[in-house]
Amino acid sequence: MPTRPYLFYALTNSVCSTCLNKLEAKIIFRDDKVYLIKHCLIHGREEVLIADDVEYYKKCNAFIKPADMPLKFNTPIKYGCPYDCGLCPDHEQHSCLTLIEVTDQCNLACPICYADSGAENQAGHAPRKHRSLVQIAEMMDAIVANEGSPQVVQISGGEPTVHPEFFEILDLAKERPIQHLMINTNGVRLAKDREFCKRLAEHMPGIEVYLQFDSFEAAALKELRGADLREMRSRALQNLNEFKISTNLVVTVKKGLNDSEIGKILDHALAQDCVRGVTFQPIQAAGRLEDFEAGRDRYTLTEVRRSILEQSDYFSPEDILPVPCHPDCLAMAYALKVKGKVIPLTSLISPEAYVETVPNSILYEQSEGLKQKIFDLFSTKHSPASATTSLKQLLCCLPLLPTPTGITYENVFRITIVQFLDAYNFDVRSVKRSCIHIVHPDGRIIPFDTFNMFYREGSAGHHLVTNCSDGEAHYV
Ligand code: SF4
Ligand code: SF4
Repeated sequence: MPTRPYLFYALTNSVCSTCLNKLEAKIIFRDDKVYLIKHCLIHGREEVLIADDVEYYKKCNAFIKPADMPLKFNTPIKYGCPYDCGLCPDHEQHSCLTLIEVTDQCNLACPICYADSGAENQAGHAPRKHRSLVQIAEMMDAIVANEGSPQVVQISGGEPTVHPEFFEILDLAKERPIQHLMINTNGVRLAKDREFCKRLAEHMPGIEVYLQFDSFEAAALKELRGADLREMRSRALQNLNEFKISTNLVVTVKKGLNDSEIGKILDHALAQDCVRGVTFQPIQAAGRLEDFEAGRDRYTLTEVRRSILEQSDYFSPEDILPVPCHPDCLAMAYALKVKGKVIPLTSLISPEAYVETVPNSILYEQSEGLKQKIFDLFSTKHSPASATTSLKQLLCCLPLLPTPTGITYENVFRITIVQFLDAYNFDVRSVKRSCIHIVHPDGRIIPFDTFNMFYREGSAGHHLVTNCSDGEAHYV
């Protein structure tokens, strides 16, 4: 009797990448790769690579833990996921990180911009606007209403540093119980305006710059960002180092373009005093994405993880683990950098202890209560067993304060891989666990993945819902 040339692993729901209609989808394993198979009645069969490492993909299930709920939900369950964002009561994770887009304007015009940002007045485009402080305050309040004390809020855009009231926006955030504030920036203003950096440094600690840093190659930068930004990035880092502003480098990774630079970027990041970590984001097929071919250019989380392991020797496979709040889309490794050396931390505890200890958060060092444990770990002698115990606790809370041994937040180094879902790899089972959200101007809190597909003004959204129980056609 013939046998299927693959293993049928699970059933889920996805969408057709052409018409965005919801479809049943199979998850299969073939040749140690994971594929999503879907059939659209109109647009036919689609097969999408979603991981190139079956064991890691399966391991993600072992990292699931009960979700933390937001304090409130914002929309009813009406049409079914993903048409009820949000957050609707069917969502299975709170907001670990929420973005606020404070402007549509940008001083770049990247060909890959998911927000379709650019100059204020661009021929053939409606004028791009800054949001008012009143509106931004309302959006922050919407996040606080959902989260109480939001773990991470990211000021984003467009390019937030072009907003004429940028520092007033930071003040609005400081007035609210936001634990950690990130500024998502392309670095152009930081490179050109030293005084701006000086003023930004006055807001330390509690802020972190999330700095675009994709490549060392002019050609790759031109393809991703429309400009050779090498000098700009270098000057931005120089200023951030000078003013000791915590920085996280963000690398948008496109297969065959800059994926071979991952190791070099890690080396560079570790050489910068201000850099606390690097986030790798495979390109999301959303928004303005010129010259993108899904079959050729899509890149998965496990491929990025493999590249990190192949191109650098800082981490072992046991160090880069799924993050419990959204395991199949987030992976992370934590380390300490001390006198030029990297000490990986994640692998030092068992996976069971990791799941048990690590909060539903993408920034573990935000947790209070265990800072003292680092004293024990680094200032006293330990047997391997007691060191492991301390590390279990340490992982939950790396120190923001100086310790007797001189280990501070400046010694923290984390790498994160963030895989966003798009119309190709969309998986309803997964999107319900999404914890990176964006606040809509009307106060809805929407997963970043579905926002770019359905809810962003001008997106392919406004989508026909055909399976509504009242039998009528609805558009969301
Ligand atoms: S993604 Fe979450 S918020 Fe959106 S419809 Fe699905 S369950 Fe609801
Ligand atoms: S991707 Fe960022 S830097 Fe580039 S145009 Fe969009 S908002 Fe500006």
